[in-house]
Amino acid sequence: MNSMNDWRMIEDPRKMQPAPKFPPELQSVFATLKRMTDVPSTPGFEQGIAKELVQLFKPLCDSVHVDHTGNVYGKRRGAPDGPIIYCPAHSDSVGFIVEHIEPDGYIRFYNMGMIPPFLSYGQRMRIITHQGAVYGVNASQPGHSHFNFGGVEGKYYPEELIITPNMNDQFIDVGAKTRDEALAMGIRPGQQIVYDTDLQWLGDGSTGMITCRGLDDKIGLLALVEALKILQGKDIYPTVYMVGATQEEIGLRGAGNAGILLDADLCVGVDGTISEQGPQTNNGDGVGTSPNCTLAEVCTSVGNGVYISVSDLAWGGGMAGLVGNQRINERLIKVAQAQGIKYAVEGNMQYVTSDPAAVQHTGAGGTPSVTLKVPTRYTHSSIEVCNLYDAVETAKLLAAFIETLDDQFNLAFVDIPEADHGPRKNRARY
Ligand SMILES: [Zn+2]
Repeated sequence: MNSMNDWRMIEDPRKMQPAPKFPPELQSVFATLKRMTDVPSTPGFEQGIAKELVQLFKPLCDSVHVDHTGNVYGKRRGAPDGPIIYCPAHSDSVGFIVEHIEPDGYIRFYNMGMIPPFLSYGQRMRIITHQGAVYGVNASQPGHSHFNFGGVEGKYYPEELIITPNMNDQFIDVGAKTRDEALAMGIRPGQQIVYDTDLQWLGDGSTGMITCRGLDDKIGLLALVEALKILQGKDIYPTVYMVGATQEEIGLRGAGNAGILLDADLCVGVDGTISEQGPQTNNGDGVGTSPNCTLAEVCTSVGNGVYISVSDLAWGGGMAGLVGNQRINERLIKVAQAQGIKYAVEGNMQYVTSDPAAVQHTGAGGTPSVTLKVPTRYTHSSIEVCNLYDAVETAKLLAAFIETLDDQFNLAFVDIPEADHGPRKNRARY
């Protein structure tokens, strides 16, 4: 019976922690994701996630290596004459770093990655020290001081009081009264700080919706691992490198380095992308009000499956981004259609580019590159939201692309004899 009469007062607090109602196929996916989101991995601090990725890749790969800058390579060997496919997802997530400790014990910090001040303000934080995690709060102004009880104008939150301090004016309170007390807790300048929000299902879990810090790009790494599971025990023609790449959030650094090392024939990256969000925005028929981000600004929607990105050119601060290789994208779409994989096309994303934008510049003559994207709400906040089903569809498409790629695959830019017909790079012609 589903009526208001079903309401019951819950007096037993144990009943407030029910098990998630995940569909069975998502239970192990959630567990795998949790292994990765549990690890703090601010750019430059990817040691923990590198170790975890090695453990996740090992049973699924022919070999696993970590290079000197922290990129983790899980290799599946293909036919000797097959192409090399490089699949990066970044292992870091946005976070913060301790800049210095004030004499009165407060922690000054700075953002590592694109976190605007309003997203760090008023958040619980975890400082990763050599003695373990230390908990703090990014202090806010008192709520009481901002509340106006109406008055003659009936304003409850006067606009002039709604101000978010700049990052340099924000500070973390760890309960220390002096610098020495903070030092005694193990806090030192240069330590990483992460949002204190662990992986959690939304609602009762039945929708596959989840929330956590750093789903960008643990959700992409999850897709790589799940794709490897699908490919387990199967012969493949291409040789595949699934790569957890470092320092994406501060300029696509690790993936570019790995691209030089691998000199691959083609690159298919996986990353999060910003999704429309807010009331009435789902499926594009309305205007988001709170928080506003509409399909006029972004074209992806959580729950719509994997997005195949055509372009993510951003013009702010100079030209950056990637125009995806059309030959590879065409094939991805055909594979998705043939295998009934839920997909959509991201026409152009103005704000978010990813590792393949760096990989395209690597290798002699460059590397044809594309990006698969997982829609994400509230990106770079403490409460990023994704749908596990989207990650599963991404893994299915990546695996199907790899599995169906044979020696007939044509990477030619145009269909004329003068164009290189891949997939092997034909350097001898030049
Ligand atoms: Zn990302």
